[in-house]
Amino acid sequence: MRLVGGFVIACSLALAGCVSAPAPRAAAPAPPTVSAEVVRDGDNWTVEFRFGLRSPAWLFHHGSVAREGGRPWRPGSWAVETPGVRIERRGRHDVLLAESGDVPETVRIRFTPVSVDLIAEYDPALIFSDGSVALWSGHFHMMPIASAEAAEALPMDLNGIRFNGSGSQATFRDRAGRVLHIGQRFDSATLIGGKVYVLFGPLQPVTSEDIAAVIDPALPDWLKRELAASTPAILRRLTEELGPHGGPPPMLLVSWRGPTPGLTSMGGSTLPGQIGMTFQGAGVLTEDKDVRDSARWFIAHEAAHFWLGNAVRYEVAGDSWIMEGGSDLLATRAIAAMDPAYDPKPRLQEALNQCATLAVRPVAGAGERGENLAFYACGAVFALVAEAVSRRPYGAFVRALIEANRADGVLTRAEWLAALDGAGADPSVGQDIDRMLRSGVPDPKAMIASLFTRSGIAFTLGPDGTPRLS
Ligand SMILES: [Zn+2]
Repeated sequence: MRLVGGFVIACSLALAGCVSAPAPRAAAPAPPTVSAEVVRDGDNWTVEFRFGLRSPAWLFHHGSVAREGGRPWRPGSWAVETPGVRIERRGRHDVLLAESGDVPETVRIRFTPVSVDLIAEYDPALIFSDGSVALWSGHFHMMPIASAEAAEALPMDLNGIRFNGSGSQATFRDRAGRVLHIGQRFDSATLIGGKVYVLFGPLQPVTSEDIAAVIDPALPDWLKRELAASTPAILRRLTEELGPHGGPPPMLLVSWRGPTPGLTSMGGSTLPGQIGMTFQGAGVLTEDKDVRDSARWFIAHEAAHFWLGNAVRYEVAGDSWIMEGGSDLLATRAIAAMDPAYDPKPRLQEALNQCATLAVRPVAGAGERGENLAFYACGAVFALVAEAVSRRPYGAFVRALIEANRADGVLTRAEWLAALDGAGADPSVGQDIDRMLRSGVPDPKAMIASLFTRSGIAFTLGPDGTPRLS
């Protein structure tokens, strides 16, 4: 968790939680192997899974842990009602297991929606003060796996791993009325492999040309006004810079956990077309520049993922530095353009300082080491280098890469590095960035200073040899 001026920003570290990670591919025409039916009946929530083939174990595609305490969240929220079946933590994943033989064809689970901040993943639920609840559909995705031991051996990143079957679908239904999905009300919403928040309850979105906003009515008034004004402005600015994002009209979901004394907190995540935010704490009740700037920055970073993350995604999770560092720099530039009083330097210097510490190890392997921060910090440093080399705003560098890769939807490390070379960088610059990604370097401070010198970024050297942006 990053603390900025006493303000907790959860998603700035959320890695894949910020980016839509590509799902394992499903064979298109076959019916989904797993169907989940999620039903709200007043305060009772259930999900019934129907499995299209027999397997002794089923792996939840998304099984991250709570940022606070590092524990899996399903045991405190989900209770399996079907006898002979249980959910267990195995390695880095949650698994549904039969006590003997195969898991039955139908499994019923009762659950209580929980709003918990997860590492590199979307909150299971956003809970609004009027009783409305948004559930994240990705947590109902499963695939067959041979055994609990096989699940235990899996890495955290499941991209590129092939599973049997043809994917998952989830249907969401509310006995009390219609659910809200992509800005509209439906009797039920069925998502085939889709990962979005579906809203249960009466809360209505406020729509403008650029975004539809579902904002908790209990959120402090100044913050409601601020979000309603700055969110469309940020999206307009990014669209001007980067071109159309090509996704559905975006939706902002903002929930309020209440004025907890002594706390000032915000968390959230983004999905294709959705930004989720949760505010909490007495520190948010009155207008505050730090809270305002952090909220704007957060929305700008998340909105940048409609391009870096959705219009184009990374090839492997080790390349999330392209998405996270890039979104960090785009956000910083967007806020500075909106507000002349905003000084982007402290945040960029912080990224530099963090990269100077973390890049002794391979930046591309940061996710597996739990050092996701390196993706943001070093990614921002690399983006600064690209901006300086190309002598254009970073948005222009990114726009060309998006246009070139819109068709296949994937922006690879090689493509990013080739664009750097193409922008006129000394070839050694790209080679050294590649080295930081693959193996890390013994003295990252000196390496960053050297990258800056070669790309024409002005700096001074601090007493410990860390470059200081001037
Ligand atoms: Zn992000």
